[in-house]
Amino acid sequence: MIKIDDPLVQQSFQELATYIALPSVSAKHQAQKQTADFLKKLLEEVGAQVQVLTDYPAPLVFAEIKPQQPSTTTILIYNHYDVQPEEPVELWHSDPFHLKITKDKLIGRGAADCKGDFISRLTALRRYQQKHGDWPCNIKFLLEGEEEIASEHLPQYLAKYHELLAADLVLWESGSKNEQEQFSIQGGNKGVLCFELVANSAAIDLHSSYAAVVDSAPWRLVAAINSLRDADGHIKIPGFYEQVLPPTSREQELVEQAAVPDLQEKWQLTLPLLKNKSVNYNLTFSPTINIEGLSSGWEGPGVKTVTPKTARAKLEFRLVPNQDPQEIFTQLTQYLQDQGFSDIQVNYLLGESAYRWDLQHPLVDLLVETAQKCYGGADQIELLPSSPGTGPMALINQYTQAPIVACGVGYSKSGNHAPNENIRISDYLEFIEFFDQFLERL
Ligand SMILES: [Zn+2]
Repeated sequence: MIKIDDPLVQQSFQELATYIALPSVSAKHQAQKQTADFLKKLLEEVGAQVQVLTDYPAPLVFAEIKPQQPSTTTILIYNHYDVQPEEPVELWHSDPFHLKITKDKLIGRGAADCKGDFISRLTALRRYQQKHGDWPCNIKFLLEGEEEIASEHLPQYLAKYHELLAADLVLWESGSKNEQEQFSIQGGNKGVLCFELVANSAAIDLHSSYAAVVDSAPWRLVAAINSLRDADGHIKIPGFYEQVLPPTSREQELVEQAAVPDLQEKWQLTLPLLKNKSVNYNLTFSPTINIEGLSSGWEGPGVKTVTPKTARAKLEFRLVPNQDPQEIFTQLTQYLQDQGFSDIQVNYLLGESAYRWDLQHPLVDLLVETAQKCYGGADQIELLPSSPGTGPMALINQYTQAPIVACGVGYSKSGNHAPNENIRISDYLEFIEFFDQFLERL
């Protein structure tokens, strides 16, 4: 196994420190150009041909390395260089944009999602090149700067530049070990439709004595929201499940084999889990509806006897393959109208489609075999056809037609998007070793 004092690892810590020090928060449009320039320099150092595409505010970095001995295999590495906002800053124990190296951890915004992943991959490539003076196949990089804001301009970038992306396999941005410490390899993600509901019931907030005769926006809003789902989480909109792609038997098998997380224990849940199919089945295959936030009226200290004029809620559906966000939005608006809620404003916020597959491909077999060897055997590996989260996999797959797998340097307490985001140095080193070994087997 590669050691922490290996000069390549020490160099990679410096690169990761510089990378994390670039506060590339896409929600605030920060440091986009500087970060793209930094990545260009890094990739050119390993001999890649790099293009920084600047059609939209966050540059898209595309790079390609080709072996001297021509190869028919191409691996595309997708990562994003943007990160989530650092707030709430007071909950960080160190500066979010300064890589803190402890005896066992690397801490900083982006360590796990996904600056650490990118640098570990690059380090494995460097290591391979040091040994062989060449590359095992064609390697492409697609590094975007808006993943954390739903890849706002990636569709336009890909529509224009998709010919650059032809590949046989896409290695997705990041991944992590699960709670059982199994190295997780995942082949998809859910889609999403985020929307807002707004109820208005009067020109002004009223004295609440009028509640005797006046209905109010918050009651209206909760009634509308309540019409969307039953107590078991089943979504009541006609046609909502019509396009849902059922899992194949192989996909179901993979999910049944996976360890079931104890969510009750993990988050000290105070409500029972929704009564429907198994936990893993739902996490992987079921679309959901979630209320992200609700606001109306007086939320300050003490009492204010008021009948609010406005109420708003932000909600989301997580979608599965073949559900189209736009189509679902149309069904939603129609349903609310049919239920007598035509006074409720429905605003589309964002949508992404889902992607999922059964992980059957010779290159993935090779990846899995390598993982079994490097991570301690078949029972130390988890294979899942999809993650419950969302990302632009469907979009990349639409243009590349190449299968996608996600795996990486995180672990169950990495705290992606949260304060004190971190990875373990042991996982970082293991991943470098694993990816280097995978390159060796190609
Ligand atoms: Zn990410």
